[in-house]
Amino acid sequence: MSEKDYYEVLGCHEEASHEDIKRVYREQALKNHPDKMKDSKQSAEKFHQIQEAWEILGDSDSRRIYDAERKQAQLEAESILLFARITSDELYSKNGSFAYQCRCGSEYIVDKKDLEIYEQLTVACDECTFSIFIEVNKTTNLTSQDSTGT
Ligand SMILES: [Zn+2]
Repeated sequence: MSEKDYYEVLGCHEEASHEDIKRVYREQALKNHPDKMKDSKQSAEKFHQIQEAWEILGDSDSRRIYDAERKQAQLEAESILLFARITSDELYSKNGSFAYQCRCGSEYIVDKKDLEIYEQLTVACDECTFSIFIEVNKTTNLTSQDSTGT
């Protein structure tokens, strides 16, 4: 399943009728048409996403399948046991990576690369069923030192 939310791409409600989706798609396609945009590379990407969303949501069969997968993904996301929601500033450096104390006594280990790539990430504890959700602050100093931190 694609990571993009096609309803978000089109900017319509998940309960929207076929007619509504069609209308929104036409508006978006017109508004984001590469011929009209100055930043053509960005708009081409956006335009492509809109086409892709329409291909899925514009067809009742593929929409039904997509809706089911989307619902499943949402349920899975909700069933993650979150121990904490933190920002990357709250991590401390450890052995070249970053870490956060779990309540079980173990630690969440966060790869430095992940902090560079992602804007948010969920990290599971190796020892228990909890996870943490990290909002990555791009200004965080990623130069890790093997200090015990603050
Ligand atoms: Zn744990």
